[in-house]
Amino acid sequence: MQASMFNVRVPLAERDEVFLMNTFTDAQLLVTTDVADLLDRIETRTSPDAVRPLSGEERASIDLLWEHGFIVPDRAQERTALEAYFRDVRESTDQLRVTVLTTLQCNFACDYCIQGDHGDYNKNAARMSMETAARVADWTEARLDALSAKSFVLTFFGGEPLLNMPVVYYLAERLAAACQARGVRMIVNVITNGLLVTPEMVERLNACGLNGVKITLDGDRDAHNRSRPLRGGQGTFDRIIKNIREISHLTKVSIGGNFDMETAESYPALLDFLAEQEFADKLARVSFKPVIREKSVTTTKGMIPLTAVGAEGKPLNGACMTSAGTGVNRVCDSCNFVDEKMVFLRDETKKRGFATPDGVHMGPCEIHHSHSHTIGPEGSLFACPGFAGEAVQSVGHIDGRQEEYRSHALRQFQKLSAWEQCNDCAFIPVCAGGCTVASHNELGDMYAPNCHKTTFEAGVTAMAHDAVRALAEA
Ligand code: SF4
Ligand code: SF4
Repeated sequence: MQASMFNVRVPLAERDEVFLMNTFTDAQLLVTTDVADLLDRIETRTSPDAVRPLSGEERASIDLLWEHGFIVPDRAQERTALEAYFRDVRESTDQLRVTVLTTLQCNFACDYCIQGDHGDYNKNAARMSMETAARVADWTEARLDALSAKSFVLTFFGGEPLLNMPVVYYLAERLAAACQARGVRMIVNVITNGLLVTPEMVERLNACGLNGVKITLDGDRDAHNRSRPLRGGQGTFDRIIKNIREISHLTKVSIGGNFDMETAESYPALLDFLAEQEFADKLARVSFKPVIREKSVTTTKGMIPLTAVGAEGKPLNGACMTSAGTGVNRVCDSCNFVDEKMVFLRDETKKRGFATPDGVHMGPCEIHHSHSHTIGPEGSLFACPGFAGEAVQSVGHIDGRQEEYRSHALRQFQKLSAWEQCNDCAFIPVCAGGCTVASHNELGDMYAPNCHKTTFEAGVTAMAHDAVRALAEA
């Protein structure tokens, strides 16, 4: 037997205890340092016989550690289990997820978004027609039938998805009826800049299974208005807050934000502001992530020279990232800044009592799920929203057309397994090698890990201290 490679420890010197987490089983234990030492001793032994001369108490501890996956038969078995886990994630038919980009148009001119207010971008940006929406619904119904999925998650994204409400309502209502007829649970999410959200819209989507609305605020009022103005240059903060106030009793509202070197410092003021609002206790989640920029557009002073907002002049605003920071394949000094800020902002968010991701349970993200699809305004299929800005990354089309470049892209995405380069990293089950979009844009290699291990480590440390606090309060 052997200590699991997925064990993570946080020593709690003041208590003479150690917080143990196993990222594969998700087990968390607070143990004495003696038990942690026992794990070290097992690590250096090679057979069950070798641990026999243990005391009864030690054997009981070993049983507990075994039961929760902190001790495993051997590394080979653990690797096999990990491969099976990723295969299950990839092939699971329990849930169908579809993200629809209703339009690539946007009413904002965010300074970090490559679509920005440049030229006549909006005039040419693609927008889903009702005919295409009908074909998206046909395609989705066929997928529901093929998979016999138990649940269906429909996410509206863009551009600004609410600039195309006819398509939003049509898809939500038709697919809600389709799910009801099939006994499938449907969940609807909307990711929006918040400017056009109304109570009427929320009530209509509630009837289709609306789970919540995610709205972006990029710092406090001044920072947000600088970063996310209307295309005419006017600020948008006040109107978004008014909209949140009007819908917060009708659905779950999550706040997201994209920080860079210049705006990160304004987030505590935003958190203070949110904490003072009457809707504070209704916010389902508050979380911030670094702006993703493409290397070629990161020459602006003060910007984090990381990442992508999309290629070919197409938007990537709001693309998710599982992680940020230092580690293998660190690409620039800004990674340190990003790691520190991610941890700092998570702490600041928690301090004000808002729910926020713990920074550990992040992945594997949807790009690793075969039955997660992103559909562009013209019906092209993508592996995840972060690649939807690059036509050549399309992995198929809802009309089933066969084109070599799409088949090629599909084969490329099916081979993703960046974690195989991560050796014995304890975070592989929750990281899977990091954000593929960031690897593609920062490193020019979607197969390379995009490593931000320090943010995971900080996340476990925070969990340890939360566990201790919870015990003290119990
Ligand atoms: S690859 Fe990156 S952008 Fe795409 S789903 Fe995963 S975390 Fe999100
Ligand atoms: S699994 Fe994630 S945290 Fe671990 S080495 Fe790979 S990229 Fe870094």
